[in-house]
This record gives sequence, structure tokens and C-alpha cells, in this order.
Amino acid sequence: MERIYFDYASTAPADPEVVKAMEPHFFANFGNASSPHAFGRNAKKAIEDARELLARSLGARSEEIVFTSGGTESNNHAIIGIARALASKGRHIVVSRIEHHSALRPVEFLQKEGFSVTYLPVDRMGLVDPLELSRAITDKTILVIVLHASNEIGTIQDVAALGRICREKSVGFHVDAVQTVGHIPVNVQELGCSTLALSGHKLYGPKGVGALYMRKGTLVANFLLGGDQERGLRASTQNVSGAVGLAKAAQLCQARMPQEMEFQTRLRDRLLQEIPRRIEGAVVNGHPTRRLPNNAHFSFEGVEGESLLLSLDMAGIAASMGSACTSGAMKASHVLTAIGLSEKLAFGSLRLSLGRWTTEEHIDRLLEQLPAIVKRLRAAAAV
Ligand SMILES: *Cc1c(COP(=O)(O)O)cnc(C)c1O
Repeated sequence: MERIYFDYASTAPADPEVVKAMEPHFFANFGNASSPHAFGRNAKKAIEDARELLARSLGARSEEIVFTSGGTESNNHAIIGIARALASKGRHIVVSRIEHHSALRPVEFLQKEGFSVTYLPVDRMGLVDPLELSRAITDKTILVIVLHASNEIGTIQDVAALGRICREKSVGFHVDAVQTVGHIPVNVQELGCSTLALSGHKLYGPKGVGALYMRKGTLVANFLLGGDQERGLRASTQNVSGAVGLAKAAQLCQARMPQEMEFQTRLRDRLLQEIPRRIEGAVVNGHPTRRLPNNAHFSFEGVEGESLLLSLDMAGIAASMGSACTSGAMKASHVLTAIGLSEKLAFGSLRLSLGRWTTEEHIDRLLEQLPAIVKRLRAAAAV
């Protein structure tokens, strides 16, 4: 039985071309990019070329890119770093209710340190209202945090509109673009953000590497304390192979984006249409059109999400309830609660996320199997 993977939003396999580009940097070009000798200089050249390539794909300058260990570090670095740098100007932060935990937890940490926080609500579809943002910003606000697209329900925010408000009011604007970079066009000039987080393994690159875009002039205190790597902005021996892999992955995504977006949107729309048609009491969560091309998210009345995932797994289909961090813990997802879903429906949720190697046949097999599984689980729950 061929196993089918519908969990690209939690992590994606690396593209073989990415691994090929990385390989020399484990062996011949293994040097420490801070060393002044030839080994070091070659490593430095590789990482600076990678920085330039990644910067170009985002509409940024290369000196505005810092390589990190992933999306989590990038979010922590930007949020805690900006708060630390601007604390004397004000101690108020505005954040959406549907952020990833790697943005929410740093905000909660700052709240304990004495910052005040306004949580922005979202509507049924998961959208932040720009008017609400305008109203939330005070003369004490130093930072606004909104994620570009939800890792759970796939809703894509109108980040450009939110960015305009932040610029008008001269407050920092951090965007978690981990789910969008490589999947839909992301340009830091159009988004108007001060900082932006991305991660390698969500775009067919390696795990454990990411990047933080920091607009020139943005004050961000250092997050890791140590050496002066990354022009003094991020300590630790530079991850040359990781940076090369991340940049290569972003470049491949950009080249393939028009075709991948179109194909995945078509497969996604088959799921969004067919699942509610074939399964009574199935609810689509998220926005019908402002949605990641690779995200379909549902709730099924009278079904336990965990059991559904187990049954799918036994049928050779890997999916998720929404976020790997939420499943396992017996708490309804904060994102589903924020869009107003009842706890019952929240516990009966299913996220299907598609990617580079998803085929029409995978969708066929899911559509064939899912209705019977839901029916069986409902019958068992009714006994
Ligand atoms: C996966 C993810 C992260 C965390 O990235 P890591 O590289 O796994 O640390 C942050 N934000 C969003 C929206 C994500 O989907």
C-alpha cells in the first residue's frame, strides 16, 4: 500500500535538488564561515550567495536577511528583540488571536514581563479586520504581530492593508510568513512589514534552518548571545549547508510557483467541494477564496478528530487535526475557538495539506475512503 501524505503544512520532504545543492557544504566546503583562511572564505562565499538569492526572492536586500534555526527562532527573535529594543518608547503589543504558538508564547512571556497585550479577534473566516487594528493601536504600541496565512485553517490575511496602518502609525509590524513563503508570492515591500519569519522545511528545504527579514533601520535586540556571526545579529557558527539549502528551496519554489499554485488550488477545491457533498454534517473551516492553495480544513459533527486520524493512518493516509503542536493536548485549538467553532466541532477537525508530490490519484483515494471512515466512527460513537 502506497502511503499518502496530506500533512505538508507540518513539514515537507526536501526537494532532491535542494539536497544536491547542500551536499558539497558537508564535505569539501565544510569550513567555518568566520575563519579567515581559504576554507572559511569559501564557506562565507556560499552563505553570502545564499543570502543574496533568498533576499532577491523576497524583494529584500541581502543585508536585511539573517539566517536562523527555523520559524520558531525567527518569531522569538523578532518579537522579543523588538520589544526589548523599543521598551523605553512604549510597552504595548497587538497580536492576532490565531498566531502560531511560536509567536503567541513569546508574547505571553513579554506580558509576564510587564508588557500589555491586545489580542485582535478574527471573523468566522479567520480574517483580522483592519479597522480593529487601527482601533487597537495606541501611542504606547510598539509592535503589531499578524501571521500571513494560518497554518491551521489556511486563511490568508490582507497583510498589505494591515501593514499600511502600521506604517501610518509608525509601529513595528512582524509577519509570520512560514506558511506562505514558497507557496504564494511574498514580497516584503508589498506587505509593508518591518520583520518577517520563514522556515526551510515548510518549502521543501532542510529542517532546522530559517530566516528572519529585518527591514533596514528596524531596531531589534539580539536574541542569542555569543559570537559576532551574521554581522553581529545572530550568534552561533553559521549553518552554511542549511542556508544554501533554504535559498535553493526558495528559488525552486519561485520558479514553479505559478504551476504549483494552479494545480494545488484545483486539487484543494475538489476536496472543499466533494467532502461536504459526500459527508453529511461536514463543515469547511477558513475562507473560501483567500486561502492557501494547499490547505483544506474541515470539521465533522459527531466525530473525534484523534480517532479519525488513527483510522486514516491505518488506511495509509497521513493527515492532521490542524497543528502538530495542538494535537495530543486535550485542548481545543485556539484558532478554531477564535473563529467561533464550538468545542465539539473543534475536536472533530481534519486538516488536509497538499504539496509538490500530491497527485489527482491521492485525492481520489482520500475521497473514496473518508466517507466510510467517518460513517463507521459515527456509528461507533452512537452505541
Ligand atoms: C511551522 C511553523 C512555524 C515554526 O517553524 P519551525 O521552523 O518548525 O520552527 C511557525 N509559524 C508557522 C505559521 C508555522 O507553520
